[in-house]
Amino acid sequence: MLTLWNDENIKMPERSICYPLAPMYKASIDVESLTSYIQRISESHSVSVSSLVRYLIFPTLYVEDTQGYSYNDLYRVYYKSYSINGFNQQALFFLQVLKELTGINDLNDLTWLKLAPLLSQGDIKVARHWCPACIYEQKNEEIAYEKLIWSLKSITIYLKHNCYLESTCPTCKKENKQLDLHSIIGYCSKCKNWLGSNLVINNNTCEENTDWQKWVYINVDELMKSEMQEFIKHDVILDAMSNFLTKNFNPINNSVYNLANNMDVDRAVIFQWKSKSKKVSFESLLILSYCVNVSIYNILFKGNEISINKNQIRPIKKTLVKKKSFITLSIDEKRIALNEFINSDEYPPLKLGDVTKKIGYKSNESLREYFPDECRLISARYKAYKAKEKAEKTKIIKQEISKCASTAFEEGKILNKSYIQSKVKIGRQFVDPEIRDHIEKVIKGSLKDFH
Ligand SMILES: [Zn+2]
Ligand SMILES: [Zn+2]
Repeated sequence: MLTLWNDENIKMPERSICYPLAPMYKASIDVESLTSYIQRISESHSVSVSSLVRYLIFPTLYVEDTQGYSYNDLYRVYYKSYSINGFNQQALFFLQVLKELTGINDLNDLTWLKLAPLLSQGDIKVARHWCPACIYEQKNEEIAYEKLIWSLKSITIYLKHNCYLESTCPTCKKENKQLDLHSIIGYCSKCKNWLGSNLVINNNTCEENTDWQKWVYINVDELMKSEMQEFIKHDVILDAMSNFLTKNFNPINNSVYNLANNMDVDRAVIFQWKSKSKKVSFESLLILSYCVNVSIYNILFKGNEISINKNQIRPIKKTLVKKKSFITLSIDEKRIALNEFINSDEYPPLKLGDVTKKIGYKSNESLREYFPDECRLISARYKAYKAKEKAEKTKIIKQEISKCASTAFEEGKILNKSYIQSKVKIGRQFVDPEIRDHIEKVIKGSLKDFH
């Protein structure tokens, strides 16, 4: 019995800065998203998301970066918050920081990192999506979290409630960012109204949609639980796709024409996949796997064991996978989209380069060619914002420099440039003539007082 008290057996948990909150529904298709987890961490410490990001996450992220970070970096977190749940650098940053803050190691499942080799930016929804019926139920159960699966573009309904996921607030009709300064799970971050409702249950009445969505869920679940590694090279995927198509679709057995018809894609696209000259999107991979009735995992990793029979190919209903790309918009529709960016009150305003990408152009020049006036407006607004930001920064730094006169006096130190540098984090602004002049003035001023 005494061995129970052998102190080798008593291990105190390592202290963490934040409460080590356990993520919801790990290792299941219902796992919560990393942005949900961030909101719950904030809530459990009774601080806003904005305070958590600003005073804990950022200082941890930039602890060794002497350059520090700008307000822009801070705002970009919310702007690009969809990528926190995503599959690239941003997700890795947040995972690293949250691991340090909570002491919980395995939060990777709360992002799409595992599927990184299969995903492109377009596969992740930019705006926050939710199931109103889940939120309704969560209120009674006194738990609140958002599911990772809601953020995948190919998921349009939540199967358990057979209802469409929502992305606009029923009260203010606005979209929410995936994470915002004052996000609270279950509430609109714009107007603060509740997003739950049980009236939406079974608002999907299309059986083909149910079948298609079930297929998506099963495939995502299988891939997330598989041995697939997030660092698999894209070439491996390209090769597997090419081999699968070449083996099963040729003039002798199944025609590419038949497959293209069932998938509702151009034949040329399938030939590009065959020749490995085009990356296949996750949505296309899902459609292919649905049409041939073989899971993505089997297509990619068990391709040798599979042969496709002509009779097993089924069509996908065209309206279920409407391709919504700005590239396919008409000039007028593009103008409307552009005006939406111009009229939006998002802060900070988007850079022209960001707008260009969102509309689907490769360079600012090509956008300018069609919409010179709109481009000028967007650029001017961004410049004004940058100038204002710089002026504010300069003002704060000047105030801090002025304060040095009295602190140097109190500390009995000589007020010179190196003293100021030791007190005020000036960085690149040191070359700014306005700051340099101010430093000179403060030093001269104090000498005058001294004599
Ligand atoms: Zn639901
Ligand atoms: Zn609202």
